[in-house]
Amino acid sequence: MRVTERLKSGKKLFSFEFFPPKTEEDAKRLFDSARVLKALEPDFVSITNSSSGSAPYRTVAMAGVLKAELGLETVAHLTCVAHTRAEISEICRRLKEMNVKNILALRGDIHNIDGLSPRRDYSYATQLVADLKATGDFSLGGACYPEKHPDAPSLDEDILRLKEKVDAGAEYLITQLFFENSHYFRFLDKVLAAGISVPVIPGLMPVTGYKQLSNFTQMMKVSVPAELRAGLERWADDKESLFKFSVEHASAQAAELLARGAPGLHLYTLNRSRAAIAILKNVKGKAG
Ligand code: FAD
Repeated sequence: MRVTERLKSGKKLFSFEFFPPKTEEDAKRLFDSARVLKALEPDFVSITNSSSGSAPYRTVAMAGVLKAELGLETVAHLTCVAHTRAEISEICRRLKEMNVKNILALRGDIHNIDGLSPRRDYSYATQLVADLKATGDFSLGGACYPEKHPDAPSLDEDILRLKEKVDAGAEYLITQLFFENSHYFRFLDKVLAAGISVPVIPGLMPVTGYKQLSNFTQMMKVSVPAELRAGLERWADDKESLFKFSVEHASAQAAELLARGAPGLHLYTLNRSRAAIAILKNVKGKAG
């Protein structure tokens, strides 16, 4: 199944994001989570990859195995900034071999890569999208940022660049996580005004710890509403109450997004199933 085709059906789409495990124990946890989440019939699961270009075949293998063994539709994330065209071509060959038909085409973060070659083949995701589109082999998605990408001088400038990515062949977009829906709706208005008409799937992440929140917000430069911050502080020493609060916050976000027309939801799971299951159970029945 190509994600693009699935989006055309008009039914709300639900997906989960995983990262490739590094140890046997992590692999077991991922498979346990994926098995449990499969019962909720996600439209796809996506597998991240490293921006440094290390171990791209771990993502390929995970995407292939989750598809072959669990029957889950998979989207392989593919970052380009640390790869040559020849390497990208080889990764794609292997994805085809594994029967993976969907790619989320990304640049990758450049700040955490040591010794990035100045003569690299790719500087932006748009170039990767254009190359992949030319092959015709994959359904292509791209990333977008309701609160703007941290490197972009302004949201308007970022959206101009996003339009180039869509014009190059990105058929749908998945957002960076956000904790306040007003960012998504404002972004959507701007995106539409810029002539971008592909589906924009909101990415949500239930926060299960205060420390985790500051890591993510510092790295991704997303804002945190006062009531979320206050709740996480209040329940900092009570894991169960924190979990409940966090799931309720994300479920309320999800329900409003779906009710106001979002095409579906992409849940960042961090390879754990419990919060994702709770959120999806809260909203899926009502999604239509
Ligand atoms: P781009 O679309 O290339 O944009 C990057 C920046 O460049 C933006 O500021 C944009 O405005 C600007 N820009 C674009 N084109 C031009 C141009 N022609 N001239 C000047 N400026 C330009 N990272 C990983 O390492 N692995 C993953 O698996 C991964 N998965 C992700 C999944 C999602 C849904 C999201 C939202 C992000 C993910 N990321 C992942 C993070 C992503 O790689 C980083 O945010 C990265 O810094 C930007 O990637 P991009 O594909 O959005 O880049």
